[in-house]
Amino acid sequence: MKHVGAHVSAAGGVENAPLNARRIGANAFALFTKNQRQWQAKPLTEASIAAFRENLDRAGISPRHVLPHDSYLINLCHPEAEKLAKSRDAFVDEFQRCQQLGLDRLNFHPGSHLNRIDEATALSMIAASIDIALAACDSVSAVIENTAGQGSNLGWRFEHLAAIIEGVEDRSRVGVCFDTCHAFAAGYDLRTRSACEATFRAFDDKVGMGYLMGVHLNDAKKPLGSRVDRHHSLGMGEIGWEAFRYIMSDDRFNDIPLILETIDDTIWDQEIAALRAMSE
Ligand SMILES: [Zn+2]
Ligand SMILES: [Zn+2]
Repeated sequence: MKHVGAHVSAAGGVENAPLNARRIGANAFALFTKNQRQWQAKPLTEASIAAFRENLDRAGISPRHVLPHDSYLINLCHPEAEKLAKSRDAFVDEFQRCQQLGLDRLNFHPGSHLNRIDEATALSMIAASIDIALAACDSVSAVIENTAGQGSNLGWRFEHLAAIIEGVEDRSRVGVCFDTCHAFAAGYDLRTRSACEATFRAFDDKVGMGYLMGVHLNDAKKPLGSRVDRHHSLGMGEIGWEAFRYIMSDDRFNDIPLILETIDDTIWDQEIAALRAMSE
């Protein structure tokens, strides 16, 4: 069975996110557990945690179909010691918030070397950052997202993801979130069925489909290999519907959160319905 949703708003409190998901016919969703553009956040209150769990239950959504996303400020391979420490502290806090909410995974971007450290060093710093976070909680897995490769962002090549996983101590608690827009921007074609087969064969070879713990379903505004991260609504961009048809009809994408981060939230309900129709 497929679990499809969108990155919904948690405005007014995390407990509103499951309700927002339900409203668009989702049986999965993503959220930020704190303001994604600020370092500091108030701890989650007991009341908010209890309401979140209750609303999740009421929406009939399982915790493993929720894919929280961390703050955009965090850089797990920051070349400056002080800023790296700040990022790691915030990263640990993100994991602990997920654990408090009863969630089992946290989605994040690997990090940027800022052209000041070499790739291999940066990748091992990211793995060390993951080790620190995993040691600070016991039930949340680290879900690395592939990136578009904009600027000095790492994680756009499948080899980067493999190297990070390789460097993590407890590989039973590490996974990958595959973002279709990011993969396409990074040069992995998804426009036809055979292109999808080749891309996911490469992903399986380099990383392993067994590590897949989520997918971000996004069309792309920019052409193949642009290295520019611009999402589009499904079917309206350079990728087109075939990639989403492929994912929705393949059992390897069952039972993991499949999340829209498309640009027009007023049509999320329609996008979800169209995706559902493809899996029937
Ligand atoms: Zn992301
Ligand atoms: Zn994404």
